[in-house]
Amino acid sequence: MDDAANRLAEVKTVIAEAAKRAQRKPADICLIAVSKTHDADAIRPLIAAGQRHFGENRVQEAAAKWPALRAATADVTLHLIGQLQSNKAEEAIGLFDAIHSVDRSSLVQALAKACEKTGRRPQFFVQVNIGDEEQKGGCAVRDLPALLAEAAAAGLKIEGLMAIPPADVEPAPYFALLDELAERHGLPLRSMGMSSDYETAVMLGATHVRVGTALFGTRG
Ligand SMILES: *Cc1c(COP(=O)(O)O)cnc(C)c1O
Repeated sequence: MDDAANRLAEVKTVIAEAAKRAQRKPADICLIAVSKTHDADAIRPLIAAGQRHFGENRVQEAAAKWPALRAATADVTLHLIGQLQSNKAEEAIGLFDAIHSVDRSSLVQALAKACEKTGRRPQFFVQVNIGDEEQKGGCAVRDLPALLAEAAAAGLKIEGLMAIPPADVEPAPYFALLDELAERHGLPLRSMGMSSDYETAVMLGATHVRVGTALFGTRG
């Protein structure tokens, strides 16, 4: 096995073991390989090893890389995990199968309009600023009920919540809070956990983990 296949197998083993410990089914956790900054040559070995869900944080970069990769492998699922400008909503809807970064009213409206126009219906997550950090993207915890109500009124189906906990502190309480917020609002999906903490996230209810470095190595 090459490096990519080895790393993929390792990450999958960690997910499966954490899931079992939490009495969950490994198949209920979607591993998103975060391929931002990595080129097609780095991505292809993971596709060859069977990986199908990939995450990008910029629309432009995804638009440059993925059409060709997808032409070769039709069943790839592409997730947008980075901030989205409202004026790129339609392009994002055309490119991505899931958008994890719905975080404000203007974007809800732009996405609803783009869905109506294109007929496409990706999976949507609201990103929550779970640590209430000043510089961080995401909807404030206190604004979440209003944003979810607005999405429902606009016909935008939100299926889950996404969060990035504050750096350099124990992430578990933040994962538990995101899980609780999702539960409270009847949302089945939780996108949480990155290379350094996806095992903890799985034990606390993650349905989607977003893993870059552990699969691709450090970004240049
Ligand atoms: C880059 C990124 C990741 C992956 O981070 P790693 O630490 O490399 O696993 C996950 N989620 C988001 C939102 C990211 O921007």
